[in-house]
Amino acid sequence: MKFHTKAVHAGDRKRLGPDTPVTTPIYTAASYLHDSTARLDRIFGHTEHGYAYQRYDNPTNAALEEQITALENGHGTLTCASGMAALQIAVLAACATRPKSVLCAEAIYGATIRMLDSVFAPLGFAVHYVDACDPAAVETAIDQHKPGCVLVETISNPLLRVCDIERLAVLCRKAGAALVVDNTFATPLLMRSLELGAHLVVHSLTKFLAGHGDVLGGAVISDEEHFEPVRQLSRTCGPVLGPFEAYLTMRGIKTFPLRMERQCANARSLAAWLRNHPKVERVFYLDDPAHPDAAVIRRLLPEGLYGAMVSFEIRGAQRDGIFDFLDRLKLVVRATSLGDVHTMVLYPMMSSHREVPPDLRDRMGIRENLVRLSTGIEDMEDVEADLDQALA
Ligand SMILES: *Cc1c(COP(=O)(O)O)cnc(C)c1O
Repeated sequence: MKFHTKAVHAGDRKRLGPDTPVTTPIYTAASYLHDSTARLDRIFGHTEHGYAYQRYDNPTNAALEEQITALENGHGTLTCASGMAALQIAVLAACATRPKSVLCAEAIYGATIRMLDSVFAPLGFAVHYVDACDPAAVETAIDQHKPGCVLVETISNPLLRVCDIERLAVLCRKAGAALVVDNTFATPLLMRSLELGAHLVVHSLTKFLAGHGDVLGGAVISDEEHFEPVRQLSRTCGPVLGPFEAYLTMRGIKTFPLRMERQCANARSLAAWLRNHPKVERVFYLDDPAHPDAAVIRRLLPEGLYGAMVSFEIRGAQRDGIFDFLDRLKLVVRATSLGDVHTMVLYPMMSSHREVPPDLRDRMGIRENLVRLSTGIEDMEDVEADLDQALA
């Protein structure tokens, strides 16, 4: 089945009897009643599929999980209460039978750095960072640190670097490490890392997949090897998504490919508009022929689908000037998230990269005049008019 078809059909219309609901209902029951205790025994013993208790499994979540598995071409999915819960489970599953050592991309979501440094490191995990867009540096770091898990993002925040997942997967497999990929920014429409050799893919469902700014959720999509360990961790620790959120996410995903195509097209035209704006010093977008990862982008991403994130520097602006620019915006939503149907803006220095030490921030190339946009599905003429008056 093709991608757009899977988004609409996968997971739904499970036969419950002669009359099948066309869309998956919200199952709120905490536990299930069975015809016989022998059946419950088989469900507990995993010799028969069925529902016993909501921390283990739930039909609404199961439908969503089937839908996400289809989109990422994985073996199976666990949905979680947040993207961070999903990342935590993925790293634990990756390291369960491997060295307690994580090699993480330097350019990564701020909360991911916090999770590794303030939760995993104090528990005894070795945590090291590397420039994931430099395969030679990754190879050296793998040799040196012998990680159990290598953790990267498909499109980094906020400078939109793209690492070579295919190459990293080869390096990880050679060294026996598990490759965990946070695919929140690229989404499965642009990149399917399990097909490229990764072991586990993670999403914040909160962003593009649910897409409407009204759900917090996460997902771990895994290969066959890691699927049971992921589910076992979840059954034990219980970071599961609630059925209401599962329903909303599943509904959101049905239009996700359409939204994402439109958001990518909008980002591309907005990036072109920004490049021509006299107040804009520099634009970061994946269609730039001078992008440092242009060759990888050409090889791994579909032609014309370069994501819905655009970052840009405002000429000569300092912190106060950026605050004024943000406060003048009337349409573009100034809030901490991305991937929604409405265009959003965020100031990385103040939010996502607030706690990154200034010297590291400089080394990463995140300057004081940088803002990050996530394009929605609006008509970009209106967004451009709003940005124009705010830049004036
Ligand atoms: C938002 C985000 C997360 C965390 O997801 P939550 O749903 O907020 O817990 C992780 N990684 C990336 C790339 C994100 O954008």
